Amino acid sequence: MSFRSKQTGWQIILAGLFLLLMTSSAFAQQPPTCSGCGKTIVGSYVEIEGKAYHKACVVCAECGKRILGQYGSKDGNLYHPDCYEQAHAPRCGVCGEPIVGQYVTLEGQAYHQDCYRDRVAKRCVVCGEVIQGQYIEDGWGGTIHARHHETVPRCDSCSRFLAGLSGTRHLDDGRSLCADCWRGGVHDLPHAERLMGEAQRILGEAGIGLLTPLETISLELVDKQKIATIGGVGGDTYGVHEVESKRTSDGRVILEETTIYLVRDLPEEQALAVLAHELFHVWQHERGADGGAAQWREGSANVAGWLALQSRNTELARFLLEKMDEAPDLTYGTGFRRAKRLYETRGKVVFLERVLLEGKR
Ligand SMILES: [Zn+2]
Ligand SMILES: [Zn+2]
Ligand SMILES: [Zn+2]
Ligand SMILES: [Zn+2]
Ligand SMILES: [Zn+2]
Ligand SMILES: [Zn+2]
Repeated sequence: MSFRSKQTGWQIILAGLFLLLMTSSAFAQQPPTCSGCGKTIVGSYVEIEGKAYHKACVVCAECGKRILGQYGSKDGNLYHPDCYEQAHAPRCGVCGEPIVGQYVTLEGQAYHQDCYRDRVAKRCVVCGEVIQGQYIEDGWGGTIHARHHETVPRCDSCSRFLAGLSGTRHLDDGRSLCADCWRGGVHDLPHAERLMGEAQRILGEAGIGLLTPLETISLELVDKQKIATIGGVGGDTYGVHEVESKRTSDGRVILEETTIYLVRDLPEEQALAVLAHELFHVWQHERGADGGAAQWREGSANVAGWLALQSRNTELARFLLEKMDEAPDLTYGTGFRRAKRLYETRGKVVFLERVLLEGKR
């Protein structure tokens, strides 16, 4: 009889109790001492694993009763087989009962196979089946079989799998937002304007002070599709800024009007990052440094978004920061990481000097 674990392979052989009867007279000089009671043995005794016992002293360390047949031993103690299980078999993390036979371990915790399947195993949020083989996680606790990858709907802002979630909002511009992102969303202009003020403060603290008074910048909430049609500088997906110049008849600029368009209903953290990004473009424009390679212009504006996200200590902010660090895009990903490295290693002064230099090319 043996316990065998699927994962670790530990094994305990329950040895038969051979009543190896001996008599103390067999030992010429020293009568043996009983390992059970500690007294000297006179007459017959039992030897187990090299130790001598009075027959009556072969007792189970768990239940205290005599052991007459098979036993298990651990750390010098003897047990009935059942008592051994009770005392030493791994315990299931779901039902708490000892485990005999095959079991499953996850992060150091053992489970009965059935308990694991029913209560612990990851289940696919699309088809509900236990996950086996290749799977994908969304970073929010959602898991799917890899085969649903192409078809599973995800939250446009946090990338959470939307299958099986309630409260999902489907917007007219084709976006879907999870309940959390919708709840934390920027749905009206006053809210967006407060965030633009916050973004301006964050940039100011990083030495990126705007010359244009914030009150003169108009802010508009628009659909995502609208952003693409406005175009403007770069290919930003959630915001865009537009500068309209009023000129005299001889072409001199007498007035510039700046408008920032922000995609409506974005969760606050994302909206704040987009606004910081767009305000950075305004800063670039004020200094005639909104030209040059897109990789620098957009990468450095993303540093502004990154600064804004760092001011928010939320799960979504952390998620969005991670996403920036992993973005495959050459401009917004690679360009951002290069600009950020300069900011981090050389400081904001060197960073901004470089932004001006690159933007005036
Ligand atoms: Zn004894
Ligand atoms: Zn026992
Ligand atoms: Zn169990
Ligand atoms: Zn599935
Ligand atoms: Zn979401
Ligand atoms: Zn941009």
